Amino acid sequence: MHIPTEKKREIVLNLFELIKKKWEVYMPLSGDNKFIILKTVCSKCGANWYVDEKECFSCKMRYLRAIKCHNCGKIVAEENLRHCPNCKSDVGIRGCINCNKKGDGQFVPITFCSKCGNRKNKFEWRIISF
Ligand SMILES: [Zn+2]
Ligand SMILES: [Zn+2]
Ligand SMILES: [Zn+2]
Repeated sequence: MHIPTEKKREIVLNLFELIKKKWEVYMPLSGDNKFIILKTVCSKCGANWYVDEKECFSCKMRYLRAIKCHNCGKIVAEENLRHCPNCKSDVGIRGCINCNKKGDGQFVPITFCSKCGNRKNKFEWRIISF
């Protein structure tokens, strides 16, 4: 198979766009310009299912990348783990800002749709060619 450089560039850019839209791209089928693309979506509303998002194991609240400072009780962004912007101290162990529980395995991959709350997902897949 010989594809001109310009065409290759175009394919790569197209694949990039798909990845940005949460598609996972699999290798070309039998050397063609064909790709299998796959993504996880909500079985009810079809919204993207963010497999990299997390929820609290105890109360099921979505993990918002925020933590509660154990010193002053203020809710701050996760980047401030070592330095609370409010009281300037160590924020402490990150726990759930809703139920305050913390520990190993406190946050697990999300089990519900961030759009409609449905708890079932499915794979959507297509074969595409450029
Ligand atoms: Zn603080
Ligand atoms: Zn919780
Ligand atoms: Zn949904």
